[in-house]
Amino acid sequence: MKNYDKIIFELSTPGRKGYSLPANEFHTDGLKSIPADLLREKSAQLPEVSELDVVRHFTNLSSKNFGVDTGFYPLGSCTMKYNPKINEELCVLPEFTSLHPLQDEKSVQGALELYWNLQRMLSEIAGLSEFTLNPYAGAHGELTGLMVMKHYHEARGDYKRKKVIVPDSAHGTNPASAMVAGLEVVEVKSKPNGSIDVEDLKPLLDDTVAGIMMTNPNTLGMFETEIMEIAKLVHEAGGLLYYDGANLNPLLGKVRPGDMGFDIMHINLHKTFSTPHGGGGPGSGPVGVAEHLKQYLPNPRVIKDKDGKFHVTTDKDSLGSVSSFFGNFGVMMRAYAYILSLGKENIKNVGPLATLNANYIKESLKDDYLLPIEGVCKHEFVFDGLKDKSTGVTTLNVAKRLLDYGFHAPTIYFPLLFHESMMIEPTETESKETLDEFIEVMHKIAKESRENPETVKEAPLKTIVRKLDETTAAKNPILTYNALKESEQ
Ligand SMILES: *Cc1c(COP(=O)(O)O)cnc(C)c1O
Repeated sequence: MKNYDKIIFELSTPGRKGYSLPANEFHTDGLKSIPADLLREKSAQLPEVSELDVVRHFTNLSSKNFGVDTGFYPLGSCTMKYNPKINEELCVLPEFTSLHPLQDEKSVQGALELYWNLQRMLSEIAGLSEFTLNPYAGAHGELTGLMVMKHYHEARGDYKRKKVIVPDSAHGTNPASAMVAGLEVVEVKSKPNGSIDVEDLKPLLDDTVAGIMMTNPNTLGMFETEIMEIAKLVHEAGGLLYYDGANLNPLLGKVRPGDMGFDIMHINLHKTFSTPHGGGGPGSGPVGVAEHLKQYLPNPRVIKDKDGKFHVTTDKDSLGSVSSFFGNFGVMMRAYAYILSLGKENIKNVGPLATLNANYIKESLKDDYLLPIEGVCKHEFVFDGLKDKSTGVTTLNVAKRLLDYGFHAPTIYFPLLFHESMMIEPTETESKETLDEFIEVMHKIAKESRENPETVKEAPLKTIVRKLDETTAAKNPILTYNALKESEQ
């Protein structure tokens, strides 16, 4: 690895130690009981450092990272909102963390009650009949939901329904999940305003349609006003409607996917319901279904009996199990705390505030950035790069320059509908002052792009590392000390 940046990593000094262990009293016997092929021939190659070296190394690294706790993070589609710290305190309560999933149900009534209550809350929020909280992430929820869809058709002997209609603006996980579920993906076009083209949809609706996957508001942040018509058409053709509810911020407590005609949906607890997810996990992707699909949900389930006791059950019509036990319980605890702390009334403020914030940024910046779709957006919107592209400054350059000013970049080059997509989602948790600072910086970058484009093209100039080789970083990540040593040989 020639261009690997060595500035901070090599701290090892031969013979230095950060631990002390008592002498091994079982030395010879201990070794004998380990099968020969598992015995190490040479000592492990580890950095030789003191405890203080380790603490400083990781503390310094952590401060070089960008997170929602250090700055504004308007990453469209990802809903990087502030996650209240009270939720973190609650989800490590030993009464919950010390439970074992194989414990007798009588001894874990509190945990089962939390699971059941959260199921009921999500059902109410979604306008659906029943939820499973077992899937581990949004994409896993999609797969589970599509397996429900497949089971529903197959249980009726309708084996030729294999086609899943996905809009061209969909999140990449949608077509991927459909493929993994053994279904076929057919694309439906969007109109210039970003919503599904109903005329393009109609000819696709025949007796091979399993269903359609949508998100509303769509990936461009626009509400699909023809949703009731779309639901009618798909249902008449015998298909089901799947709602990608990864980002429920714009609708929370206001509009319910079930009321729009959706039969199945997933929710990302780690986006809308306040679990930190910038580092890629853990997540939780609960799946909700309408009454007629309840029996297909995965096992195990939690039910409440007449006496108010909770039980773990399985259903014979279920599609089977999709997780070990009940999924990521800590994420459920955060979501539960978040919903309860907002309460029925305040949860209704999430959508309007997220929508107001997104529209405020959009209207304030559309003189400098190209807004391909006019009109009121929901929680996010998309610019097609700078309005003035004459100096050759790209969306990537603007995104990198934002880092110099202390802001995380928006989502870029997605959706694929525009060449220079810049997808901005401020969320409801940001103050007007923060939004104003961001707007000012975006204007400043637009001005720099006209007057001094080379600075913007060379950005970032002030970050701890400059332009990274993102492809190599993703394809050949160096995650251990040994991997670095070996790559240098
Ligand atoms: C994040 C996201 C997903 C996938 O969720 P993961 O938890 O990352 O698997 C699916 N759809 C949309 C619209 C998303 O924003």
